[in-house]
Amino acid sequence: MSLKMSNATLTYPDGRGRLTALDNVDLDVPAGRFVAVTGPSGSGKSSLLAVAGTLITPDSGEVVVGDVAVTGADAKERARIRREQVGFVFQQDNLIPALTAVDQLLLAVDIRGMRRSKHRDEAMSLLDEVGLADSAGRRPHELSGGMRQRVNIARALMGGPSLLLVDEPTSALDTERGRAVVELIARLVRERNLAAVIVSHDLATLGPGLASGVDETIELVDGAIRSRDTHEAAA
Ligand code: ADP
Ligand code: MG
Repeated sequence: MSLKMSNATLTYPDGRGRLTALDNVDLDVPAGRFVAVTGPSGSGKSSLLAVAGTLITPDSGEVVVGDVAVTGADAKERARIRREQVGFVFQQDNLIPALTAVDQLLLAVDIRGMRRSKHRDEAMSLLDEVGLADSAGRRPHELSGGMRQRVNIARALMGGPSLLLVDEPTSALDTERGRAVVELIARLVRERNLAAVIVSHDLATLGPGLASGVDETIELVDGAIRSRDTHEAAA
């Protein structure tokens, strides 16, 4: 499954006028590709993820997730696509203090209206995939910042989405731990053939062109794509 945005423009009300958060953005992320979006604060990075993840419908332009043109779909259909195809990782880990790591993942299943008992194996195997098999019973305060972000990533992958959208996951981490989070996402992209977009202003963590890094970097300025760099795989 892939993500395709064509000519997406998004504005917000701003006093008597409108503020342009996204200005004719084109973005093509096929399955298996890991794309970074960088740019200054306020340049539209989070808005781009919200539009890509069907949370916000742009004023104009088209967004296609897999083979569904979500910009033409009704709210119910968009919610279905989001539930079945999209995993979000936000900057704050949004973990619930009282819940163990495995229960954080199962809560995501509850919310999606799926049967929890059927998903315990999936939750355990995802925790294993992110290197937390031994921490399934730990609560957030018993985990480091990097581990909490890995729980967050595992949770986003419950139910097997094909599109992973990650907003500044490393901003609270030092470079080494941030780099480890990006490496983990890169591995999951390859192993699960995900289409993935990561927002980050922390270029040192992105590993452009490495097998353990991003395949492409896009720079947003004032809602428009200013530059686009495709990185040759170092292979
Ligand atoms: P970034 O993630 O790059 O910091 P955002 O996408 O959050 O940028 O914001 C882009 C612009 O849109 C900013 O000027 C921001 O203030 C504005 N903005 C974001 N969300 C809203 C909103 N819900 N209503 C009005 N303006 C918003
Ligand atoms: Mg943002």
